Amino acid sequence: MRYSALRVIKEALTGHKGWEPVWRSPEPKKHYDVIIVGGGGHGLATAHYLANQYGINNVAVLEKGWIGGGNVGRNTTIIRSNYLLPENEPFYEYSMKLWEGLEQDTNYNSMVSQRGILNLYHSDGQRDAFVRRGNGMLMAGSDAEILDQDGVRELYPFLDFENARFPIKGGLLHKRGGTVRHDAVAWGYARGADSKGVDIIQNCEVTGFDIKDGVCTGVKTTKGDIGANKIAVCVAGSSSRVMAQAGMNLPIESQVLQAFVTEGLKPVLPGVVTFGAGHFYVSQSDKGGLVFGGDLDGYNSYAQRGNLPVVEDVCEGGIAIMPAIGRVKLLRSWGGIMDMSMDGSPFIDRTHIKGLYFNGGWCYGGFKATPASGMCYAHLLATDTPHEFAKGFKLDRFRRGGMIDEKGVGAQPNLH
Ligand SMILES: Cc1cc2nc3c(=O)[nH]c(=O)nc-3n(C[C@H](O)[C@H](O)[C@H](O)COP(=O)(O)OP(=O)(O)OC[C@H]3O[C@@H](n4cnc5c(N)ncnc54)[C@H](O)[C@@H]3O)c2cc1C
Repeated sequence: MRYSALRVIKEALTGHKGWEPVWRSPEPKKHYDVIIVGGGGHGLATAHYLANQYGINNVAVLEKGWIGGGNVGRNTTIIRSNYLLPENEPFYEYSMKLWEGLEQDTNYNSMVSQRGILNLYHSDGQRDAFVRRGNGMLMAGSDAEILDQDGVRELYPFLDFENARFPIKGGLLHKRGGTVRHDAVAWGYARGADSKGVDIIQNCEVTGFDIKDGVCTGVKTTKGDIGANKIAVCVAGSSSRVMAQAGMNLPIESQVLQAFVTEGLKPVLPGVVTFGAGHFYVSQSDKGGLVFGGDLDGYNSYAQRGNLPVVEDVCEGGIAIMPAIGRVKLLRSWGGIMDMSMDGSPFIDRTHIKGLYFNGGWCYGGFKATPASGMCYAHLLATDTPHEFAKGFKLDRFRRGGMIDEKGVGAQPNLH
């Protein structure tokens, strides 16, 4: 079914009886060309691009829970292309371009909103670092603008410019950054993949791999054994647990990250703002709630919930730049499991086991990467060669000393 304004009008006039389920609920077949383990944003995007760009549609996506129940439906919805390093920024700029055409591509309203991101700076040293980053962004074809204090004041007059512990001196503005309705991304990709024949199988947990003589030929699941020529793991926060079933020990730790939503307010925040002297980022959802987050909880966990000390820390960060939000009621908070890699950068690579592929290590920044990750993983699966924008995301980069350490903080995942 194609969605359009005409279709909405027709359904409205006929009692909304014609809408069809967005994807089917098939039983698994015995064998597929490709099995994707994990029905998050990245797994579904991979399935969509495999079927729609590479013509491979004998594909199953196996999801242990439900579509959108993982990080893709738990993040703070921010997309941006404002990285520094040459292995990262072209990839995120490619992702931004795919976001810009996503709704037309999937014929689904994902509410892509390029409302701009402002990273505040609070010292001369930080300004210089942002100028450097901005130049890196421009060189990769992204947009970047340095604002002084007056420039920030014009956009966000209610920030604390007078009495702040860390006075706001200006900001790095990235106008094409913004937000996307996160679970609609999962639904849109699921619809795109399903329409080309991909089987999306929910409540189907992968519990093991069939590996013999160094070749992976299928998976064991709660719905029985399923064979495949290629198995593509894409399970974000569960990466280390799932790959351990194949005997692999990854340079990844799982940690909790929380997100928060306040009661609905009238429009107050036109774009995304981030605090430069602490860790706090905020936007306003279309329903009016302020959506924000901050640091990781700082310990290893597979629980999708966090703890109170970080709630306090995040709220302090918010009040430091926007004292007015101290009076707003917090409505909801939740946690997601982050696949924190040791250098803060991801992996899209083959493994040493033939037929087994891995995508993960997205840390707390993988939502913005969803389209490019899906396209690059699909390319790898279809051609067995890395996509030009994902060449650096190799599993052996620590052994080679080729870390992609965007923040230069070393092998400490809780600092990335
Ligand atoms: C609170 C929070 C805020 C965030 N904010 C941002 C942000 O603003 N911008 C940004 O770019 N990124 C953000 N992120 C990060 C981003 O959400 C993730 O990096 C990204 O969603 C991970 O990829 P995914 O969507 O494929 O993961 P998921 O949606 O977690 O998908 C993985 C799926 O694998 C499934 N799975 C696990 N084990 C198995 C198994 N054995 N068998 C079958 N299926 C299995 C899981 O159930 C899950 O559905 C945030 C994350 C959190 C938690």
